[in-house]
Amino acid sequence: MSARILDGRALARRLNQALKIRAAELPRPPGLGVVLVGEDPASRVYVRRKGIVAERLGFLHRQHDLPADSSLERIQGVVAELNDDPAIDGILVQLPLPGGLDGRLVTEWIEPDKDVDGLTTISAGLLAQGRPHLIPCTPLGILRLLEEAEVSLEGLDAVVIGRSNLVGRPVAHLLEQANATVTQCHSRTRDLAGIVGRSDVVVAALGHPGAVEGEWIRPGAVVIDVGVNRLEDGTLAGDVGFEVAAQRASAITPVPGGVGPMTIAMLMENTLRASAQRQGRPVD
Ligand code: NAP
Repeated sequence: MSARILDGRALARRLNQALKIRAAELPRPPGLGVVLVGEDPASRVYVRRKGIVAERLGFLHRQHDLPADSSLERIQGVVAELNDDPAIDGILVQLPLPGGLDGRLVTEWIEPDKDVDGLTTISAGLLAQGRPHLIPCTPLGILRLLEEAEVSLEGLDAVVIGRSNLVGRPVAHLLEQANATVTQCHSRTRDLAGIVGRSDVVVAALGHPGAVEGEWIRPGAVVIDVGVNRLEDGTLAGDVGFEVAAQRASAITPVPGGVGPMTIAMLMENTLRASAQRQGRPVD
């Protein structure tokens, strides 16, 4: 079998086009406020990409660049300004923060209604209770890719490898809420190969290139590879042994070009949702 490749770039492009139209129908454009602290090159690239997409969709985009040695008070002041700004509907603090600044603490300063990354305790708690409001972007993008693959999750056995608050934990909640039977694995899991081999859906978010071996994949399974790992030769690789997995799976995401582009599209979708809600317009 040769898997269908789930093209996150193409899907993100389509979703973004629809978001642009919906944004233009609102009384004022959705506003995204981004806080970038320090000079980390990867964070700069991510923030730049988000800004480009926001502007392309006609969103208002305000970026606050702060020096790496900024005090927590200074960062709190900027987040408070964005919380109070009526033109801003969504706030994103790019993580990780430099120099031991506590990203969790800073995230909690964001008003829950503007938490378009879905990372505050309130957003995480609502999702855990099955009453999601703003859902973290990468997990939401994964669900959209599964929809695109026309996977009906009800009753399927799904494995999520990784339990971070950013990816693994929220993905597991979403799959369970779609009535899959979910096994969550982590670094202490004893029989990862066996669990993967029994699963209809595999979401790999552990951050080790090729750690999920292609031979483990059950024939016909759907594989979502979240991992983004820079190899010594400079290329990017996922967490799944792609070549072999693609011979066994029915559908699989590539790295790059799978989950990654969906993350930014879902940030835009969350910002639009937050904006529509704040402007008293229908959210969906
Ligand atoms: P993280 O916070 O480092 O979490 C990694 C998780 O994987 C942990 O729960 C860890 O278990 C588990 N793990 C580590 N080694 C394992 C092993 N050998 N077997 C089973 N589980 C193992 O990482 P993250 O932020 O969730 O990100 C995961 C990957 O996704 C990274 O490659 C990251 O770059 C990528 N990512 C991509 C996007 C995107 O948009 N494409 C977005 C976010 C993240 P413990 O809890 O036991 O330590």
